[in-house]
Amino acid sequence: MNNKIKNAILLVCLSFISITSMAQDDDDVIRCWTDEYNAGLSDKPANIQKFIEIAQKVKDNPYQERAFINCDGTNTITIPVAVHFAGEVTCADAACLLAATEAQIQVLNEDFAATNADISVYNNLTAVCPGDYPASTLASNGTCLNFCLATSEHPASSGLEEGDPAITVGQHTWPSAGADWSGYLNIFVSDEAAAGLGTGVLGVSPLVGSANGDGFYVLPSSFGGPGVSCTSGTGINTSPTYNGGRTATHELGHYLGLEHVFAGGTCGADGDAGAVVPGAPTVNDTSPQDAPNFGCPANVTSCATAPTHCGSPDMFTSFMDYGDDACLVMFTEDQAQVMNYIANQVIPFDTDGSKCAEVSNNTVDACGVSCPTVTPMNDVGSACASAIGTLVTDWQASLGADFMDPDGSNGPNAGLQYSSVPITDATFPQTAPTGTYAGDGCGNDVQTWYAYYECDDNSDGTAESYIDAGNYALTIFADAQAPTIVADDLVCNYSVMFACAGDSEGSTTVDGSTEAPGYAGNPTESVEVVTANGCTATFMVAKAACSSTGSLNCPTVTAVNTSGSACASEIGTFVTDWQASLGADFMDADGANGPNAGLQYSSVAIGDATFPQAAPTGVYAGDGCTSEVQTWYAYYECDNNSDGTADSFVDAGNCALTIYADAQAPTIVADDAVCNYSVMFACAGDSEGTTTVDGSVEDSGYAGNPSESVEVVTMDGCTQTFMVSKPACDCNCDAEGGQF
Ligand SMILES: [Zn+2]
Repeated sequence: MNNKIKNAILLVCLSFISITSMAQDDDDVIRCWTDEYNAGLSDKPANIQKFIEIAQKVKDNPYQERAFINCDGTNTITIPVAVHFAGEVTCADAACLLAATEAQIQVLNEDFAATNADISVYNNLTAVCPGDYPASTLASNGTCLNFCLATSEHPASSGLEEGDPAITVGQHTWPSAGADWSGYLNIFVSDEAAAGLGTGVLGVSPLVGSANGDGFYVLPSSFGGPGVSCTSGTGINTSPTYNGGRTATHELGHYLGLEHVFAGGTCGADGDAGAVVPGAPTVNDTSPQDAPNFGCPANVTSCATAPTHCGSPDMFTSFMDYGDDACLVMFTEDQAQVMNYIANQVIPFDTDGSKCAEVSNNTVDACGVSCPTVTPMNDVGSACASAIGTLVTDWQASLGADFMDPDGSNGPNAGLQYSSVPITDATFPQTAPTGTYAGDGCGNDVQTWYAYYECDDNSDGTAESYIDAGNYALTIFADAQAPTIVADDLVCNYSVMFACAGDSEGSTTVDGSTEAPGYAGNPTESVEVVTANGCTATFMVAKAACSSTGSLNCPTVTAVNTSGSACASEIGTFVTDWQASLGADFMDADGANGPNAGLQYSSVAIGDATFPQAAPTGVYAGDGCTSEVQTWYAYYECDNNSDGTADSFVDAGNCALTIYADAQAPTIVADDAVCNYSVMFACAGDSEGTTTVDGSVEDSGYAGNPSESVEVVTMDGCTQTFMVSKPACDCNCDAEGGQF
């Protein structure tokens, strides 16, 4: 074939490029838009020109140049990958996005390392048709390219943090994520419209990428890997045919410089041998092919049943044909070497490993956390201060599982939090109430616990939003406080003094019994205190020592005035009887009120200026015959300041005592010659009582019966009997009739 004919065919075929490569399979999808996209670029990027120049060297001396791009262990690189979801792909299921991304990258790593299990499809071909499908064509070592989902050194503009997978949602669409994403292999996943593509396009890529923020596109329904199929706004990897992750493998082949195996659309010039882009890298181990294969050619049991174009079996298992994912299983040796070279020498990937240095936190940061919806629960309650913790715990339990965040996944702090101000307050959140009583010890302390739930929307370890969980108005009653015991009088009666108004004694009491002054025993008392709100506690309370110091309250008594009379010998009994008649008020039984216990007596009245004076004697002090009058003024001493001296006196009345003279001994005189005797009384008015002197004559020289018993009765009725001596009588007492 001469050159003119060849050129004519080339021109014809070029005019069919769009037709052949746009050919759709039964699912009405467009397998790849790469040829159309690149053909439409008016200006080839500078790196394309560089790519062509370097490739020309490869072409000029392929064996020498290709030697240094074999996988010999010195040129293995790991390319950081970022995935940008957009358009109909949303955060509805962030886990789905992460799972699909990880599955897709696993597919890339297996396909580019030739460790994919279905590479056996090609091995079977080799077995039945070794001439057309030689083992040497298979890139047995794959490429030297590894791919990692980037986790560190993300662009600041992304909002991603260290550890976040390089996954964005709703930020970037194909063909570029912007210069911030230079150095990454960017994969764009969105609906076609969001990417500016026609309906049904599965994938598109620049024909050799630049790692300047560019990347390739994959339709959401074909993005992922085997076994992953889910929905997040739209179906992810839900295609029944193109769900093996090979769309990305295919487009990545373009990004790394490969053309379709049918490039050029003509049998006359092998497109991937450099016919389409003059000077492009040469792939010599694929047969000439003028159209893609679709579907999944089966039952290839001999060379005769292999798909053919241009009169030779096609390399239909190459990732760069258009078959179903299940039948695209390998890169050829030349394809692998071209990609190794481009990835190593042409595209400025950031391959120093720094972008994959962090362990992934497996969170799609851009999607954040889906915080739960809860219904706030408001409540009130009250308890004694010592029991408030139990009350709060019970309330929290009543809130239910919604508030518990059992796995702690929704916020930086798991479970309920509390603030002292409501969630609507501008200063929310503030420190939680203490639950500790903070009142004055008597009044109530009201604390409102505002419960809320933290939500770390972007999983950066800081709460961005809060969920109102309701509030709890807690009235905290003061606990009972220890009382004091005071001695409230000088005889050491005790009283309990409570700390708060409304406190009272419970089941144990202080009995107020009198303790001995200078008290030393029973130094404490057990007292149960009951507050006005019913809080109780029992205290051992120390008693103050009692030393009888302080001020006495003297008793109030009613003075009793009386009068009486008695013979002198009986006046003592009379006074005693009078005192007894005054009653208990005057007794000062315990002697505590004054320096001198009991009634005292003065000879002058309590109102007298000279009061008190010595008490009357109670002893008759008259002339022996007439009466004596003594007035006894009774009073009570009161030692108000307990200094041992009476400071005041209480009038107890008086008793006017008339003391009669007791009877006095009479004398007997002989009042005539025959010794008649007469009784001579000491006082006028005295007289004989029941016994008398009869005045009979005694014998002269009387020597017997020398005394006479005489009862004397005074005019006041005092009586006494005396033995009175008789004087001797010397008259002749024998004469009858008393004559001498
Ligand atoms: Zn393609």
